[in-house]
Amino acid sequence: MFLSVFDVFKIGIGPSSSHTIGPMSAASRFLGLLQSNEWPRPQGVRVRALKASLHGSLAYTGIGHGTGKAVILGLNGEEPNSVDPDRIDAIVAEVEQQEFVSPPGHPTYIFNPATDLIFDRKNPLPGHANGMTISAFDSDRRLLLRQVYYSIGGGFVVTDTELEAMRDATSAPIGPRVPYPFSTASQMLSMSDASGMTIAQMKRQNELAVRSSDELDAGLDQIWAAMASCIDRGLNMEGVLPGGLNVRRRARSIFDKLGRDRLSNRYNPLLANDWLSVYAMAVNEENAGGGRVVTAPTNGASGVIPATLRYYLHFHEDATDEDIRTFLLTAAAIGGIIKHNASISGAEVGCQGEVGSASAMAAAGLAAIMGGTSRQIENAAEIALEHHLGMTCDPIAGLVQVPCIERNALGAVKAVTAASLALKGDGSHFVPLDACIETMRQTGHDMSNKYKETSTGGLAVNVVDC
Ligand code: SF4
Repeated sequence: MFLSVFDVFKIGIGPSSSHTIGPMSAASRFLGLLQSNEWPRPQGVRVRALKASLHGSLAYTGIGHGTGKAVILGLNGEEPNSVDPDRIDAIVAEVEQQEFVSPPGHPTYIFNPATDLIFDRKNPLPGHANGMTISAFDSDRRLLLRQVYYSIGGGFVVTDTELEAMRDATSAPIGPRVPYPFSTASQMLSMSDASGMTIAQMKRQNELAVRSSDELDAGLDQIWAAMASCIDRGLNMEGVLPGGLNVRRRARSIFDKLGRDRLSNRYNPLLANDWLSVYAMAVNEENAGGGRVVTAPTNGASGVIPATLRYYLHFHEDATDEDIRTFLLTAAAIGGIIKHNASISGAEVGCQGEVGSASAMAAAGLAAIMGGTSRQIENAAEIALEHHLGMTCDPIAGLVQVPCIERNALGAVKAVTAASLALKGDGSHFVPLDACIETMRQTGHDMSNKYKETSTGGLAVNVVDC
């Protein structure tokens, strides 16, 4: 199994990888399909109109997560990694007013969001909680093409056929051949023992199967630059987050207070927690505001990994670019194993799969740059994930704000604690990471749909939104 570090860490926009980036990418894929010869296009017939339908969790929390906007942007030819966050509202307003989309390289297609974008809460699609269809019609509104997409978490999008192939254990592994094809933690440790390589070194070798060393380093540096600039923007913003909950941004005021405390020379026993929290909250407030963020491994959990790494850099002035790359490669290796064997999607397994996975990845990355052995790194990831097991996804009003913003702060604190505990041992421990991941998968499977990004249970129904 090969899941690139650039599949795990993708630059995009907030507030949700599964509900914003995924649907936007699906729309972009559909436009590509329209231009291709991969469908039986009747001779002389032209596509004149489009329709999109959102199902399951995309329908339940799509409005709060900006899914409608994402589909409009995607059908208008915008990509998550390049759309200007400051232009999004204007583009959407233009489409709503004109009732058509004009993606570059295509004719104009009739698309009136009021009638052609449907939030269908009654009919979930069979393959996954985050389902959607996009359809194309001719000038007489005859159906020409209909494609089902599933947004399976972290911005990944697959068609119904691709999803079946992924779930078919007998089908050939998807992706390039790599020298260290570990798909479980135990395989990873065996390969590390046999090769004498660290987890980051094996992950690097795998990445080099598809790109040069220079490209890999440049890409990793770009990912960290995007994470760091997201923290900086979040630390400078004030005001109320969009969506109607009236949640105030807090990162800036906490950051200012920490700065004043630093000047006072007063001992603060909560210092580490405070810095971790403020960095994570800065990212997740940016995410909630629809800003530029990096999936890590999702948007909802995008604060944990940048906060943990920034915290390390904050207290280690001698840290190098290589440390940052090692952190990201190690974290991506753990994220790939979790995604392969369970899920990183809140709609599939609850928040244990989002913030829990992010915390495990961050703990592993931190343990790696603090000199941990492969077994200590695996132990760090396991501790962090174990203590998120069972955590539900119940965002109030379907917005990625409460509990998500603070939850990332806590995920970062647990990551550092997990790395610290693991580094004090010799790597031997009671619960293997693979068993913990399987427990998360089973727990997610048994969890009621109310707690899987539908906002129909938990905090979402027990707190009055005003
Ligand atoms: S509760 Fe967790 S999984 Fe759900 S939207 Fe928030 S961060 Fe994502």
